[in-house]
Amino acid sequence: MTLVPEHIEHLNPYMPGKPVEELERELGIRGAVKLASNENPLGPSPRALEAARAAAAAVNRYPDGGGFRLRGRLAEHLGVSPEVIVLGAGSNELCDLMIRTFCRPGPDGDEVLTHRHAFFMYRVSAEAAGVRFVESAVGPDLRCDVGAFLRAVTDRTKVAFLPNPNNPTGAYLTRPELARLIDGLPEHVLLVVDEAYYEYARAIPDYPVAEAFRARRPNLTWLRTFSKAYGLAGMRVGYGVTTPEIAAYLNRVRLPFNVPSVAQEAALAALDDAAHVERSVGVNAEGMAQLRAGFERLGLRVFPSAANFVLVDVARDAAPVYEALLRKGVIVRPLRPAGLLRHLRVSIGTAEENARALAAFAEVV
Ligand code: PMP
Repeated sequence: MTLVPEHIEHLNPYMPGKPVEELERELGIRGAVKLASNENPLGPSPRALEAARAAAAAVNRYPDGGGFRLRGRLAEHLGVSPEVIVLGAGSNELCDLMIRTFCRPGPDGDEVLTHRHAFFMYRVSAEAAGVRFVESAVGPDLRCDVGAFLRAVTDRTKVAFLPNPNNPTGAYLTRPELARLIDGLPEHVLLVVDEAYYEYARAIPDYPVAEAFRARRPNLTWLRTFSKAYGLAGMRVGYGVTTPEIAAYLNRVRLPFNVPSVAQEAALAALDDAAHVERSVGVNAEGMAQLRAGFERLGLRVFPSAANFVLVDVARDAAPVYEALLRKGVIVRPLRPAGLLRHLRVSIGTAEENARALAAFAEVV
């Protein structure tokens, strides 16, 4: 007998990017560069920071558990009613809540479906809840194969996650591909389109927003976050847009004060600073070109990416490359948990950080 249930005993934890401070302490160095967690290298909007500072004075009070003002402002921003918006401690929490709220655990219970090499937390959340986890095959470039995804659906498929764009590949489904997936999914499946990187992808002409399919698929849920283009990863604010019924169930399971008051205020202010988001997306596009060109000069294959990171095929076991880069003070992300042994994911940084990373890669590979 183990202390925990079997499904917890066998759980593979999520491995976050190594913190800069930890690496610097281990190596006794300064000035390490972290391109491992798809964060915004420009930092948060100064307006969000100011709002957070002001809100800090009242942290003796519990946050507004219903997130009234933030949901209201988001509703306005998105042109939906506030009752269809659910706030989460990052969009991660909403993925987790979708599973815990709607899936029956156990070997004869419901299934969570996504495709291979998708965002790793779907698996962690499903397995932590004791819910069966199913991955469909991918096509060329590790992209979601819509036919395989639809064929993997069973009577027991309850929640299906489509990260668009996906992490760690950076791939996205085009409008016709997403339409085919949405139209082909049986009604009993709750589809969650995870748009964590939406702000980076939205200018691509054939990138589809899930919202456009709301009329066609009434039980659709889509997720967005303040962690990426808004630069508030440390605040932990994300949200889901769904039906009033799904929102009400999620709110039953959600802990009452899941999004801190300081984070709610920072997110409100960040929403008003569209220029900061634009700047961030611009710096990302420049950094993407810089990294792509640099990796190609080194003869390394870079996957097309619609997000704020690139997937690099280092054409050998990636683990020693990752370790060697660490010793040079450059933190990237190994992808063994996502089943990618020859690949590293490199988040796009400032021009200077990207140059540091490329120089370290040049020495290592
Ligand atoms: N979905 C995807 C596809 C992601 O890459 C991430 C962040 N790594 C998340 C969701 C969760 O981000 P957060 O919880 O910070 O909103």
